Amino acid sequence: MQETIRTLCQTYGPSGSERRVLEEVEKLIAPHVDETRYDLLGNLIARVGSGGRKLMFAAHADEIGLVVHYIDEKGYLRVTPLGGVYHQHLMGRRVEFANGTVGVIGLEQRNVTAGKHDWQNIYVDIGAKDRAAAEKRVKVGDAAAFSRTSVFQDDVVVSKALDDRLGCAVLVEALKKLGGSAENECHFVFTVQEELGCRGARTSAYGITPDAAYAVDVTTTGDTPLSNPMPCNLGEGVAIKMMDGGTVIPTRVRDLMIGLCEANGLPYQREVLRGGTTDVFAIQFTKEGVPIGAVSIPTRYVHQPSEMASLTDTEAAVGLIAALANADHSAI
Ligand SMILES: [Zn+2]
Repeated sequence: MQETIRTLCQTYGPSGSERRVLEEVEKLIAPHVDETRYDLLGNLIARVGSGGRKLMFAAHADEIGLVVHYIDEKGYLRVTPLGGVYHQHLMGRRVEFANGTVGVIGLEQRNVTAGKHDWQNIYVDIGAKDRAAAEKRVKVGDAAAFSRTSVFQDDVVVSKALDDRLGCAVLVEALKKLGGSAENECHFVFTVQEELGCRGARTSAYGITPDAAYAVDVTTTGDTPLSNPMPCNLGEGVAIKMMDGGTVIPTRVRDLMIGLCEANGLPYQREVLRGGTTDVFAIQFTKEGVPIGAVSIPTRYVHQPSEMASLTDTEAAVGLIAALANADHSAI
């Protein structure tokens, strides 16, 4: 599990550039699935099991990042966010481009004292002496992702891109646990461009037309100093979503998920996320509609360069996905 998380988190894959992550996933799951394919938008779809109902499990392979929109004459890069990046978290952080070029995020000095953090006064410094030198390494339109190692410490993992490589790792480990068979026809989808509006989930769900669909993604917690009230805490189990900013999970699906946790001794907590959503937001609107569920992993510092989650919660999520893959869905 730890090596799967480390491999997937450390691989470069901002939205629109997920292919390296998907190739790593493909290597890990190949022995445990009947077939893998890519759809035209770039989602990786793996099929396992037969009979029962057609189920879709989605985790997104992309991570948030920055895109270069202008390179000035002194070689500094101006950037625009790719997904939900907050500029106040960026000062002094490192980012890395697809070719390995590393940059440091700076704030114009006059604005440091003024306390102004804005996309207009942030830049990325790759140490180039002028525009021509910078352009040898980076071009307008290139995307960078945060650069951070992954650390395992007691029950937690600290890393960039836990959102949502942790979800991808859960699907990979669930496939290993299933060992190449399932009671339902299961399509495990590693989606692209979730951070830009669940784009990959939309096309892959259309192609699959599932009878029910589940997303695995991170959610926030209420256990840091002076945090907003939130019922999910690190280390207290997998979170079963009731509702978020884009979905209301049908009662029969929630009940199935809770029943499986109880039957399998998996620790769980109930989740209501007041903003934000997951891939099942897009999937629920497929054709005539799809019943959806969402498996969440409580995570601190979501969308910041170092996110933190619990291995206990992650293991419980693996158990729940494997149980769902084999569960009777005739009443859903
Ligand atoms: Zn996510």
